[in-house]
Amino acid sequence: MKSYSLVFFIMFAALSRGAAALAQPPHFRALAFYSTAEEPDHVQFAEGALKFFAAAAAKDNFSFDSTTDWSKLTDAGLRDYQLVIWLNASPTNPAQRRAFEQYMEAGGAWMGFHAAGYNDKDTGWPWFVDFLGGAIFYNNSWPPLPAKLVVDAPTHPVTRNLPQAFESPANEWYGWKPNPRLNKAVQVLLTLDPSNYPLGLKDVLTEGDIPVVWTNTKYRMVYMNMGHGDKIF
Ligand code: ZN
Repeated sequence: MKSYSLVFFIMFAALSRGAAALAQPPHFRALAFYSTAEEPDHVQFAEGALKFFAAAAAKDNFSFDSTTDWSKLTDAGLRDYQLVIWLNASPTNPAQRRAFEQYMEAGGAWMGFHAAGYNDKDTGWPWFVDFLGGAIFYNNSWPPLPAKLVVDAPTHPVTRNLPQAFESPANEWYGWKPNPRLNKAVQVLLTLDPSNYPLGLKDVLTEGDIPVVWTNTKYRMVYMNMGHGDKIF
């Protein structure tokens, strides 16, 4: 029995070493920031996103870390990451905002969802409005409902595996004024189909061109308005 145990131990050690030698370094490292002090539906979305990204990281060999500690939004805190994700909030602290600006201006990448892009007259961060392509929150639909979305850019990496139009799960949909599509640097990837109107019961979107996913091509960024509740994933 003893010699069998030893044989197994040696085999196990050899296999472990082999596996370590074969393991590839991650393609890139992503860090997701979120807050638990948000409306419950936005926290629910973040919790769903953490599971989604952890599974995607294991499958597609990237590294995925997450934190609720926005004080990690510093030059040093971002240095090892090629992608920053904001799941349901954005920073209010001036030093954190400045660190993010520098990260993006130096070629970092960002993916933001729903409330992470929310901004109004009280946000006081003009750089961020410009970063979003000039989009300022204007109105919303309520309660959360599914909506038909149309692909604007069928060859873009974000949308190329999507059908030309599809029904997206229940979400609170935001309208924007100015419309980011007016910005020449913005490429809109998905838009609310006008057939959805009127969309909502208490708060109703009745008309207009409402981009849902877009990128400001001056940066390596994509904003997705999905991000409300536990149906998104
Ligand atoms: Zn919401």
